[in-house]
Amino acid sequence: MKPFKTEKYTDFTKAVNRKKMEKAIAHVESQFGKEYSIIIGGKRIRLDNKFHSYNPSKKGEIIGTFQKADEQAAEQAMQVALETFESWRYTPAKTRASYLFKMANIMRRRRFELNAWMVLEEGKNWLEADADVAEAIDFCDYYAHEALRYDKGPNLYKFPGEINRQVYIPLGVGIVIPPWNFPLAILAGMTTAAFVSGNTVILKPSSDSPGIAAMFMEIVEEAKVPVGVVNFLTGPGAIAGDYLVRHPKTRFVAFTGSKPVGLRIVEQAGKTQPGQIWIKRVVAEMGGKDLIIVDSEADIDSAVAGVRTAAFSFQGQKCSACSRLILDDKIYDEFMKKFIPTVEAIKVGPVSEYDNYVGPVINESAYDSILEYIKIGKSEGNCVCGGESAPGDGWFIRPTVIVDIERQHRIFQEEIFGPVLGVTRARNFDHAIELANDSEYGLTGAVYTKNKKKIEKAKREVFVGNLYINRKCTGALVGIQPFGGFNMSGTDSKAGGPDYLMLFTQAKAITEYIGRKRKIRKKPVRKSKK
Ligand code: NAD
Repeated sequence: MKPFKTEKYTDFTKAVNRKKMEKAIAHVESQFGKEYSIIIGGKRIRLDNKFHSYNPSKKGEIIGTFQKADEQAAEQAMQVALETFESWRYTPAKTRASYLFKMANIMRRRRFELNAWMVLEEGKNWLEADADVAEAIDFCDYYAHEALRYDKGPNLYKFPGEINRQVYIPLGVGIVIPPWNFPLAILAGMTTAAFVSGNTVILKPSSDSPGIAAMFMEIVEEAKVPVGVVNFLTGPGAIAGDYLVRHPKTRFVAFTGSKPVGLRIVEQAGKTQPGQIWIKRVVAEMGGKDLIIVDSEADIDSAVAGVRTAAFSFQGQKCSACSRLILDDKIYDEFMKKFIPTVEAIKVGPVSEYDNYVGPVINESAYDSILEYIKIGKSEGNCVCGGESAPGDGWFIRPTVIVDIERQHRIFQEEIFGPVLGVTRARNFDHAIELANDSEYGLTGAVYTKNKKKIEKAKREVFVGNLYINRKCTGALVGIQPFGGFNMSGTDSKAGGPDYLMLFTQAKAITEYIGRKRKIRKKPVRKSKK
């Protein structure tokens, strides 16, 4: 078995890779309009009610048709998952892990096709889509290695007359509810972590990304994961989600998404239902209001590049995206003079074209909400860049920078989830940290400074789950930067880290009494006097 290593990104400066990507985009476009089933116990099922997935770069263009699962389908999936759990729970870890290694290899083989799905269905640019697939591969590989490590159990101290072990056993049936913005990576990460640990899963993807989720299910099937281990329900969050979250047989919920939905799930899962004999475990990773501090002693050019990427890559639709820029007064003018032209130079448009760095936001309601926030931002501060929609057929919004934002402003406090950056002045480094920590969220943050004492202070005092020094606050790597946030950013589950599988298991300590070995006193041998 090869040791875990993160997957390399595709080099799109090479013509050969650009050609492969163009071909993959054309292939996925040729599949537009197909209908996809829900999958329960390996059976493909069509329902009366359907919904569409759309291309956000081209309003109204239908990617595919999907089933709206109802409570009856959800119940059917629960029964199959419960039944399958009885055999899957005892399947050796080595066998379970082998499915994840296979899935990683299938994703490597289908990389360009998977990239193309996310370009067309979620409006990711080529680099972002490719990074999403790389992360999904990493999750499969990493959690497979982790399952084997957990299987060995921890080291315990020895005790005479006993054999003591601690084993990690699965929980039961879990509901996996991923967001649309990392539609393959997060979905694959939560699902594989759950089932490699011996649980069975009902996967309900976001209604904005059911197409790439259907591709994930193809990969699960191609890897020959036993039927019923992963059951696939598309449809509205509220119906299938609420029903399953409340279900007395649901043992755990793995959720990543917004704060309001996450808190609702925590609340619903907290109510004990008749017949429920356990406390449901909830892994809930939620929103962010992430910050970058640029200190008076920072490398300004490197900070400019870092802030630009962290704020505007994938249209600012990352939980880790920088939406609060805190600039020390002393370098404010120098930073902004360099920064604004680089933002104005960003090309916005359909991301099926490689040159467009910023694509559309995900859908009409996101578009309306972001434009509303820009209006609020203009009333709270001053818009110096963007501030409007961009021309084109999709949900395009120009990268927007709003200055003179104060800590009490909504632009400073609320998650916008779009290409909008608020800029706040700090009197000095201490003030910058005070501003950074003035948030109900605590997901990611970055600090640019060359001063060693300030670096140490930031490490101690900036209250976020993922802190970066002298680099951008997005782009955590599996196995290298375990990911998850504090406070209203969630349960700090640290996806892609060594503690993650613990959340999908329960530890059982087993003591076997074998009796103390009695010391047999040897009788002294008398020497014969012969
Ligand atoms: P969302 O909360 O709208 O939806 C997330 C998932 O919940 C979707 O699958 C949706 O169908 C489902 N859902 C909706 N209502 C539900 C209900 N009542 N019961 C059960 N499930 C329900 O979030 P989104 O728009 O898909 O994703 C964006 C959000 O996710 C942002 O807030 C972002 O910060 C957050 N996010 C967080 C992380 C992290 O690791 N902390 C990572 C990615 C995204």
